[in-house]
Amino acid sequence: MSSPTRIGLYGGTFDPIHQGHLHLIEQLFARNLIDELILVPAGNPWLREHAPFASAQDRLAMTQLAVEELPANIREHVLVSDVEVNRSGPTYTIDTVEELKKFRSTATWYLILGSDVFAGIDKWHRSAELQSLVEVLVIARDGDGLDIDALPVSASQIRSQIQNHESAIKYLPDSVWAYIKERNLYVSN
Ligand code: ATP
Repeated sequence: MSSPTRIGLYGGTFDPIHQGHLHLIEQLFARNLIDELILVPAGNPWLREHAPFASAQDRLAMTQLAVEELPANIREHVLVSDVEVNRSGPTYTIDTVEELKKFRSTATWYLILGSDVFAGIDKWHRSAELQSLVEVLVIARDGDGLDIDALPVSASQIRSQIQNHESAIKYLPDSVWAYIKERNLYVSN
């Protein structure tokens, strides 16, 4: 019997999605940790200090553009889900897991989290239940976890560069940078 498909679930505010996120995705496949990946831009991340700066639709669009820039052999195994963006109310990961698992009940599900995010997982809605439904895969990012040589870049850093009228192209897929410029995103708060 073949082993169950390993599906990674990678959520984030993706405000904006950047090269650090893409590097992580490439490493998950390069290290053969998963067979498929579902990227889930958050709708309304209730635990964050502030609401996202870009709209949910813009963050979803930028995520879709970024996936197009992944190497073809990876891209064909990556999906972007609008399940959280289209759900009203606070975004709870457990709702997403329960919803997506219905479609692929025989798969093994991995929840991909940076160590900064994992540090707060006990505060999440129905956290223990969530952790019983998935395998949690923690990526080291100034903390314990799988060392993937994470890139030292964050969305907050990119947003403040843009606000300061600096170019952030180094850290962004070309199409995402073009999208941000075209719509004047992140220029003011
Ligand atoms: P912000 O600076 O606004 O908090 P962020 O860059 O951390 O944003 P998120 O969308 O909040 O990006 O992150 C989504 C997920 O990706 C989280 O699990 C986070 O830990 C992880 N992550 C973010 N940046 C990196 C990076 N450079 N390398 C590895 N993982 C990252």
